[in-house]
Amino acid sequence: MIDAQALLPSLEAISAHSKAHHHHANSSRNTHLEAVLTTYLNNTELAQHMHDFAKRCSAISRVFSIGKSAEGRDLWTLEIAATPGFEQAKPRVKYVANMHGDEPSGRQLLLGLAEWLCQHKETDERARRIVNGMHLFLLPTMNPDGFERHQRGNIRQVDLNRDFPDPIERGQAGIVQPSGTEQPETLVLMRWIREGRFVVSASMHEGAVVANYPWDGTRDRQTHYSRSPDDAAFIHLARVYAEAHGRMASSEEFPGGITNGAHWYPLWGGMQDWNYLAGDCMELTLELSQHKWPVPQLLPQLFEDNLPAMLAYPLAGAFGGVWGFVRELPAQTRHLREAASSGGDGRPLGARVDVMGINRTIAASAEFGDFYRPLAPGRYNVTFSLGGFANETRTVDVPEEGTGVKLTVFLQPLELGIMKWGLARRFGPLNGLRSAQESPQASFSQSASARLIQSAVILSVGLAVLLLLRAALKRVYGRRREAAGASMHSPARRSPLKP
Ligand SMILES: [Zn+2]
Repeated sequence: MIDAQALLPSLEAISAHSKAHHHHANSSRNTHLEAVLTTYLNNTELAQHMHDFAKRCSAISRVFSIGKSAEGRDLWTLEIAATPGFEQAKPRVKYVANMHGDEPSGRQLLLGLAEWLCQHKETDERARRIVNGMHLFLLPTMNPDGFERHQRGNIRQVDLNRDFPDPIERGQAGIVQPSGTEQPETLVLMRWIREGRFVVSASMHEGAVVANYPWDGTRDRQTHYSRSPDDAAFIHLARVYAEAHGRMASSEEFPGGITNGAHWYPLWGGMQDWNYLAGDCMELTLELSQHKWPVPQLLPQLFEDNLPAMLAYPLAGAFGGVWGFVRELPAQTRHLREAASSGGDGRPLGARVDVMGINRTIAASAEFGDFYRPLAPGRYNVTFSLGGFANETRTVDVPEEGTGVKLTVFLQPLELGIMKWGLARRFGPLNGLRSAQESPQASFSQSASARLIQSAVILSVGLAVLLLLRAALKRVYGRRREAAGASMHSPARRSPLKP
């Protein structure tokens, strides 16, 4: 894990540099933002611009291709982060635009967002939090071939937002792998979504002004509200975007500027449902303009409307729910209160994270133990579990302000729990346990006594099973001995078992 401290020298160097060239830097920077909001760049210009940007703003960005379109065009992606390209204990968020070739405004909006973040990474709090706190991925065009032809589908006229494996047709377990019929662009996105460990995402479209959330599909193929396990969290995230947007929330067509996908119109094989089911990523489909292919003169207004929303959404998704770290309780830390205050110690654990009442499990990363669980404001019981460790359940209050709850959770290896139980039985409650019960951290003491009971139950069940086994074995071998006579080592020892 690389912390902000390590970045300070480079940031200082950048600010010193920009002070020295203040006037020049400022004017050229404005030109860059204006340039991407003046006209639609063609595919060649778009690729060129992204590479130029990654050079101009190399301290916080890199450009790479996630794969190729049917016609062989690279799907170029910008990564914005304090240390781009590093695997870190930080959340990953993505924006995808131009999935439909004739809906291009997102291409320019994402380039604008990159320019704005580069300009304001030291001066704006939201920009600082995004750049230093996460890895933000921008894919301005998912369908460059369709863009080239001003058409919705890709070069084979396939609508990519109907091309993902459909859980209704194939069953939820059958959708992770490609079916064999997917288009190249879809396959590239599927692999990226599966490998990317994205927390939240948004896909930018045109044809309405609304933030659309899963499910898009319905089981009965009818048009009606289709509730996902995370309905409350999706509504919350859609509201975050709509309310930060210049005009979305005041929509007359959609109350609050949001809609459930299938309630509006159902579709199957869409990208947002697949993100959620197969990628553990919560994706919104953003409709950003009433008319498709808005004239370029509208781009500055579109950018002004969307910029606050494009900044608010990644932060709400990554840090607005419950997030933090799961670690192993260090062996030497017998004292639970020490563990609570010791902070970063202990091996990271890729534990399961379950929220009571929501039928969806996410996993903390095995490498760093970090996890990010978007949730609507409210009270939740969150359980952390991993084989060989005692479960840990925390009650959290996710505040209305969207500031989220950060947790560091220590899981105790089960052997340690059993040993403690044994010692406690002989010598009375251990100091560690007693002080934990007195500690103000109620959840710790609850889980400590829960562990004690758990260990006792496991031990007594184990003892009972052993006794039963012993009795059963005695009976079987007793009979065998009778039947086989005294010669236990003779080749005939097995014959008594034959009928
Ligand atoms: Zn679209």
